[in-house]
Parts: sequence; C-alpha cells; structure tokens
Amino acid sequence: MGYVWDFFKLNKNVDKFVEFSRFFVDSSKAFNLTSITDEKEVCIKHLEDSLSSLPFFEGGEKVVEIGSGGGFPSVPLKIACESLDFTLIEATKKKCVYLKEAAKMLGFENFNVLQGRAEELSKNDVYREKFDCAVARAVAPLNSLIEYLLPYLKIGGKMIAYKGANYQEEVDKISNGLKILGGKVVKIYEYALSEGFGNRALVIIEKVASTPPKYPRVESKIRKTPL
Ligand code: SAM
Repeated sequence: MGYVWDFFKLNKNVDKFVEFSRFFVDSSKAFNLTSITDEKEVCIKHLEDSLSSLPFFEGGEKVVEIGSGGGFPSVPLKIACESLDFTLIEATKKKCVYLKEAAKMLGFENFNVLQGRAEELSKNDVYREKFDCAVARAVAPLNSLIEYLLPYLKIGGKMIAYKGANYQEEVDKISNGLKILGGKVVKIYEYALSEGFGNRALVIIEKVASTPPKYPRVESKIRKTPL
C-alpha cells in the first residue's frame, strides 16, 4: 500500500486508511463489492473521491448514507472526521455484514449500519427529517435520489450527491421534484480526481421545506416515474 501511504501521509489517521483499503480489497470477492482492486485505483477512485465532500462538513453532524456498498463515501469520511455520526442504509444483507466488520475493525463509534431500503426506512419517525446531512454515491439518478434522500433531512439540512462529469443533465430534470419534496440546489462543486482519473461533481441540495408524508413512493414509482 505504498501509494495509499504517500497519498494520506499528512493525515493523522493514515493507518486507518491503509487498514480499510486492505480490508476492502481482501473482502471484495467474498462480498461482491467491486471490480476495482488495484491499489492506486482504490486510493483515487474510492478514497480520494469519497473525501471530496469533507470541506462541506463542520464536524458533529448526524449523517445518513444510502446504498453504502463497500462503504463509500461514509467510511473514508468517518476516518477523516471522527465526530460525524453516521447511519448507513444498505439493502444487501451481505454488504451490511461487511460494513459492520469494517466499523468494528476501525473502532468506529456512532456508526450505525442498517439493513433496509432507503424508501422504506424514511417512513419511520425515528429516521424521518432527523438528519443534518444525507449522502449517496453511485446509487440512483438525481431525479430518483432526491426522493430517497430529502425525506431524511431536517429543514436546513443538506444532501450531497456524488455525480460524474455529466451532472448537468441530471440537475436539469429535478426542478419539479425539488418543488414537491422541499429542496433547493445551493451549490455544485466540480473537481478532478488525481492522475487523470476523471472529472466529478458534488450536487448539494438544501432542504427548504418539509417533505409531504406521501413521499417517498414505492421503489418502482421512484425509478420509473420520477417526479
Ligand atoms: N455507494 C457505494 C459506492 O459508491 O461504491 C456503493 C454503490 S453500489 C453501485 C449501490 C449500492 O446501493 C448497492 O450496494 C445496493 O445494494 C444499494 N442500494 C440500491 N438501492 C437501494 C435502496 N433503495 N436502499 C438501500 N440500498 C440500496
């Protein structure tokens, strides 16, 4: 893990980034996590990309992540900013087992892994409109993602969607959905991954009004007839 070491040597938690990268690569076959196992690619495409949202956190926020998979962006963000209080919602049981093992190995506190569907758990009062921040990477197009994530946010909270270079096409399709769900695009942060691994963007949406109780709808409607 020489590359990971070089890349994160200025971070006080470099050992945890190395430990997690190894665990992710070693677990990837058994848990069906990723085809990316090259050390440099893991470091840039997963760790560096996940950490791009770090400037948008103050520390101490209650954060929900949906579709965690291998733990991106939540695990790198938690290593870099221990005070973040994470709830992960992942549909696949096997991946939840892996995420819990990772959290235990890294000694995380306030890092809760829930097996379930994003559109179902936000109906529960324990989770509805209770979070300061909601994040997701590679889970759904933005016009579906706003229906998954906005119900979890308190008014004034923000969702951070990790997107590719073609984010504008997705942003152009959400004005109606945002009106209905109570969101407003407040910032788009464009960035380039190191060593030419591509351009990305974070689309940041603030929750400006309460989400009506009938949302989110069922999975098939969210995906097939986005708002
Ligand atoms: N966020 C990770 C990343 O960027 O590497 C994983 C992305 S993976 C392509 C998508 C993940 O979202 C899968 O693990 C899948 O099980 C999960 N997922 C998809 N739809 C979901 C839903 N409605 N609720 C919870 N998890 C979901």
